[in-house]
This record gives sequence, C-alpha cells and structure tokens, in this order.
Amino acid sequence: MRAMLLERIGDPLRQVELARPSPGPGQVLIRGLACAVCRTDLHVVDGELTQPKLPLIPGHEIVGTVVELGKGVSRFKIGERVGVPWLGSTCGQCPYCDNGEENLCDLAKFTGYTLDGGYAEYTIADQRYCFPIAELYSDPEAAPLLCAGLIGYRSLVKTGNAKRLGLYGFGAAAHIVAQIAKYQQREVYAFSRTGDTEAQEFALDLGAVWAGNSNELPPARLDAAIIFAPAGELIPQALKAVGKGGIVVCGGIHMTDIPSFPYSILWEERSVCSVANLTRRDGEEFMALAPKVPVRTEVETFRMDDANEALNRLRSGQIQGAAVLVNAGASG
Ligand SMILES: [Zn+2]
Ligand SMILES: [Zn+2]
Repeated sequence: MRAMLLERIGDPLRQVELARPSPGPGQVLIRGLACAVCRTDLHVVDGELTQPKLPLIPGHEIVGTVVELGKGVSRFKIGERVGVPWLGSTCGQCPYCDNGEENLCDLAKFTGYTLDGGYAEYTIADQRYCFPIAELYSDPEAAPLLCAGLIGYRSLVKTGNAKRLGLYGFGAAAHIVAQIAKYQQREVYAFSRTGDTEAQEFALDLGAVWAGNSNELPPARLDAAIIFAPAGELIPQALKAVGKGGIVVCGGIHMTDIPSFPYSILWEERSVCSVANLTRRDGEEFMALAPKVPVRTEVETFRMDDANEALNRLRSGQIQGAAVLVNAGASG
C-alpha cells in the first residue's frame, strides 16, 4: 500500500510502498477514503510532541471502509463506513479508565502518534474505538468531525452553560463548535489572527454575532472562551475577555509558553483548563449531535500524495475550515 511516512522529526513526509497490514484480534482493516489534517499532526511532524513512534504514518481523522475483520470483530461488517479518531486504545484498568476518564489513561495509544494513522491507503484500528459515520456526510466532509469536531465538542462541554462564548483561532475546530453553539442558542464571538478578515467573515457567515482580532476585547464580557490557536499569549488575553467566574478552555495539545500575567485577571473565580484527548462517550454524543444540528464542515481537499503541501498550508494559516487528504475512490 502507499503511505506518507514520517521517518525523522522535521523532515517532510516521504511517499513509500509498505506491506498492507493484517488485522489482529479485535481489529479491523480499513481502506482509507479521507483523512483530515489536524494541527496536532503539525506538532508531531515539527517535533513539538516528543513521543511519536518512528517511522510513523500520521493522521487521526480517518474515514474509510472496513475491508477485513480480525478475530472476534462483531461491531462492524465488511463494507461498512467507519471513522477512526485520535484515541486508539486504552488499558481499561487504570484509575482514569475506571473513573470514566479514559482520555487520561496512563497507557493510552493514539492514532497517528503512537499507532500508525490515516495518511495511507489502509489503516488498522481497534473496533472498540471506531465510530459509524452518518449518511449525511461525504467522506471528506466527515473526516474533520473525528478530531476537530470531537475535541471541539469536549471543549464546548467544559464551558457548561456559558451563553457568550469566545472562540480564539477560527479554524477546523472552531468552525464546527460555532455551529453547535448557535444551535444551543449561545452567542459566538470569534477571534482570529490580526487582520485575517477572511476568517472573520467566515465566522460571521457561520452565525457568530461578532468577529475581530485576537488582541481586541469583545463588545461584551464573555462567559467562557475556548482557545484553539497554539499561542500561549492568548490565555491572558482571553482571561481579560471573560467575566467573573468565566472559564478559559485550551483545546489544543500543544501551546507556546504562557507569558506571566497579573493575578487580578484570574481573580473572581476565573479559571483556565486544558482539554486532553477524548473519550468514546464524547465521540458517541458528538457523532449523534452533528447530523441533528446539522453541522456542515467546510473542507479543502488534497490528494494523499500532497500531504506535505496540506501541512504547509495549515502551518501558514492558509486553510479555511479543514484540510482533508483523499484517496482515489472517496465520495465528493
Ligand atoms: Zn487506562
Ligand atoms: Zn486532532
């Protein structure tokens, strides 16, 4: 099979021919149709996440067709369309797993990081961590739901019933969260890089009540903010934008260092937290909710062979919505 391989941190991915893997017990072999490109993939390729398996096939927002079943697989049938997310497996026994917090599992494995992922023609996945995909979505449209959507949803849940919601970094995750937030009758305030009027217009099109630059304060005090951009300086900025008791949720796996800030902007029970990974329950809830809203994803597609170009465009902020790699045979 053809795959895009990371052999050394910082090198471009190399297109290689590899033996098609065989599914072990409980695993499915999936013919990849589409795989979205996540900012986390950039953090892996650029070495900001330091524990990847190498060589590695990146990619953790995979949509594909089940083509072979390992021993004991009963959740899916041959020919079924499934999605594979970032959480690839957990131990099921540690205190976190026991407590419904499998996202924090001490021994978790992650697709496209510690397990081979979806920048390839075929992928192996544990059936227990895959999700069925709603008919409504084409293959490329469904792919960003699997991380941008899922992590975005988990981040949104952390904001409780916040009415006025700020979204910092209006990319793949924010464009999905904005639609759910609007459906839940919240007000979305969208923040983008200074001068990125395209992203701001995109946010307004998706129902944001206000859009501006991330160094601006919104016209009203926010109840909560979610930061999707990997820029640590946004944390004090967002704390200044939220009112008393407001929460600032960091939705990314990596951020640059947070500059020091006066205690007064945290005072009055404001809080900052991060969101790590996902649980299968998040996935079930979100995949059921998305077609009800209905969440529509804006995608820019690239051929699988052009993964490096897609990564470069994402790095330089030139993607509107989500970048998605497609294999021949994917539905438009
Ligand atoms: Zn565990
Ligand atoms: Zn991701």
